[in-house]
Amino acid sequence: MKAPKFSYVRAESVEQVLALIDRHGSDARILAGGQSLMPTLNMRLSQPALLIDINRLDTLKGISLANGVVRIGALARHVEVLNSPIIAAHLPLLAEAMPHVAHPAVRNRGTFGGSIALADPAAEMPACALALQATIVVESVKGRRSIPVDDYFVGLYETARQPNELVVEVLIPSQRPDSVSVFMELSRRHGDFAMAGIACCARFDRDVVREARLVYFGSEGRPTLANQAISALKGRPWSDGIVEAACTALASDLAPMKSLEAEPAMLLHLQRVLTRRTLATAFE
Ligand code: FAD
Repeated sequence: MKAPKFSYVRAESVEQVLALIDRHGSDARILAGGQSLMPTLNMRLSQPALLIDINRLDTLKGISLANGVVRIGALARHVEVLNSPIIAAHLPLLAEAMPHVAHPAVRNRGTFGGSIALADPAAEMPACALALQATIVVESVKGRRSIPVDDYFVGLYETARQPNELVVEVLIPSQRPDSVSVFMELSRRHGDFAMAGIACCARFDRDVVREARLVYFGSEGRPTLANQAISALKGRPWSDGIVEAACTALASDLAPMKSLEAEPAMLLHLQRVLTRRTLATAFE
């Protein structure tokens, strides 16, 4: 199918974008990499009256580091995140996860901000943002506001961002030198969206688990922090028993969605399999 008719504006400034989304609200869509938006238009799952192309806005680009915080501009392409020495040194979880996002052609155009704005429940970057305690910076005609990631992902493709707000950047504290991060997912083919996945940041003091921030995606309606599983691990000496306790606790933390690929019970089983592998890798 072909996309429905729409008007198109190539924005020359952030102020112009903000004025347009304020006036048109949900009748307008931001066009970033187009890797999710264009397929939904072509399949007529979405029929916005106006597309606002932000690709020429330099202030939304780039990746930088200041005072221990990495700034990822909304328009940073997935491939830039993948190849960035700043990301490799300060946010190794993102570097590990990015090769799982689609394929090179999609990563060449798709943007970090687009993925965070869309909040696909099976996407890798939202889960990593939650594991890394990111802050999402959005802007409207009224000014900027910072949304802690714990408050940002609200539901299925639903975030705390309002239709008249643009994601401008994501701020992520550098991973601590004594932290380890592990990313794993299960998908039918490499590059497909995940059926089940986990993004984990952990710290150990010899054999004691100081912290293990476990975020699950793919099976849930949004990236999900597994608070009960985290409690089962925190402050305890490493043993198979605490890993199994965390796996048991996942039944309270997760509520897998029924999907075409698997039943909820199967998805919970897959997340437990990934949990055992992830924790063993982190401990090693
Ligand atoms: P667009 O498609 O341009 O926009 C997506 C949505 O976000 C639109 O509603 C748009 O209005 C909004 N938006 C974009 N930027 C902003 C902003 N700055 N502020 C506010 N709203 C904004 N993704 C994965 O995570 N994992 C995968 O395995 C994966 N596989 C894929 C396979 C294929 C074949 C394809 C085509 C895509 C795949 N994707 C996957 C999606 C890809 O990562 C997209 O790039 C990403 O989801 C959205 O980024 P984008 O820049 O292309 O956004």
